[in-house]
Amino acid sequence: MAGQLPHDERSWPERRDRALQNNTLRQTMGFVARRFTLAKREVYRANPDIEASRKTAVGQKRQAIRDLPELLERFRTQAESHGAHTYLATHAQDAVNVALNIAGANQTKLVIKSKSMVTEEIELNQAFERAGIPVRETDLGEYIIQLAHEKPSHILAPAAHKNRHQVDDLFQEDALRQNITPPESDEIEDLTRYARERLRKEFLHADMGITGGNFLVAETGTLVLITNEGNADMVTSLPPVLVSIVGVEKIVRDWAQLTEIIQQPAMSGIGRSLSSYTTMIHAPASNSSAPEGPKEWHIILVDNGRMALRDTEFEDVLSCIRCGACLNACPVFREVGGHAYGSVYSGPIGIVETPLLTDFEILPELPSALCTLCHACQEACPMDIALPAHIVSLRRTVVKRHLNSGTANWTLKTWARFWSTPRGYRRSINLARVIQGVYGKKRHAPGLIPGIFAGWGQTREIPQVAPQTFHEWWKDNGSKLDKK
Ligand code: SF4
Repeated sequence: MAGQLPHDERSWPERRDRALQNNTLRQTMGFVARRFTLAKREVYRANPDIEASRKTAVGQKRQAIRDLPELLERFRTQAESHGAHTYLATHAQDAVNVALNIAGANQTKLVIKSKSMVTEEIELNQAFERAGIPVRETDLGEYIIQLAHEKPSHILAPAAHKNRHQVDDLFQEDALRQNITPPESDEIEDLTRYARERLRKEFLHADMGITGGNFLVAETGTLVLITNEGNADMVTSLPPVLVSIVGVEKIVRDWAQLTEIIQQPAMSGIGRSLSSYTTMIHAPASNSSAPEGPKEWHIILVDNGRMALRDTEFEDVLSCIRCGACLNACPVFREVGGHAYGSVYSGPIGIVETPLLTDFEILPELPSALCTLCHACQEACPMDIALPAHIVSLRRTVVKRHLNSGTANWTLKTWARFWSTPRGYRRSINLARVIQGVYGKKRHAPGLIPGIFAGWGQTREIPQVAPQTFHEWWKDNGSKLDKK
């Protein structure tokens, strides 16, 4: 069953042009992506043994996805046996409704949240705000984009498209609104100090914490979170009610499997041998010997189109650990950043997941418009997901279902008709010569090329048709050569 994803209503050319005209975005995004990619290379070089572990993790994760219904059931039974409440949300809206009901039942006044892509996917914050319950993001990057009323531009670094001057502007405005002391300067230390002090009050007053989750260990019903800022530890331990919202595909069978895979997100994503914080949640405080912690723990497992990918050629997509390595490696992503994709999920994995999760309901242009098929994502992906092959397959579906624009369909069909026979090919060359004759030998001709190739012609030189093709030359000279 298809899921629902929010999307940007702007057209692809609008999103593309906005991104390409934003020099700050291109500089910061390129810098972050290259830095992560270099760090990844270094950490793999320094840990040669990890390759064997990675391969084991890939095999085990594929098996866990094949066994997903059984493992989910086991996870739920185990988690409930030690006091958690679990829910399976088929659609995005189901997950939102469950979370709102929990908030309502607990008369929640303020929510604090750690970083979670699945809550972006189901637009949880917007639903809570509409219900009059403020939600405060506590991951620094998420906090920045929440102040800017934007969406994440990178899975791991949501505010990677902003530089520190822009962050300072946002914090200065926030301080003015709150009537509190602003950051002393736009130095990183001052900015992080401001965010820390500002968020501390919210941590202490919130009555509900919301997290995502990196892994669900079926064997014991344990949720594993890996973070780099420590904010998730506060979110999971200070408020009396904890809600964890996690995609069903995050399942691993047991602790042995977790051990093989747990280093991969940090190693592949940010080039560190392990994330700074690994938090394992096993039971609410009311059901454990812990003196403090949430009294209630609710786990909402989100399907939203994921289950429908099992037993299809795209099943390996469910092995994604959201490390972001494919984004960092992608030359297109480095130029335009995440917002240009128009989906919560950007980069190569976003190109593949967005149409798959929604059955092409939104953004059908992604596979064709944002990939050069350079295969850099395939090389970068620690989970060996066949991203380029999937992108080609999705392009095929887009054509079959006539999801391209009418002009694009007509142009590509006509082109294919010409170039699928020698006679048609020769005619197209003759036609190109006629057009060249009309326009002269202009090499730079913005506006000269019409239709779907117009953008191509704006920045490139138009190739000149050779005065004589090889076939024509052979026709004239081939017989002479035979005689020699
Ligand atoms: S597709 Fe691979 S590289 Fe991209 S985020 Fe997922 S696991 Fe990481």
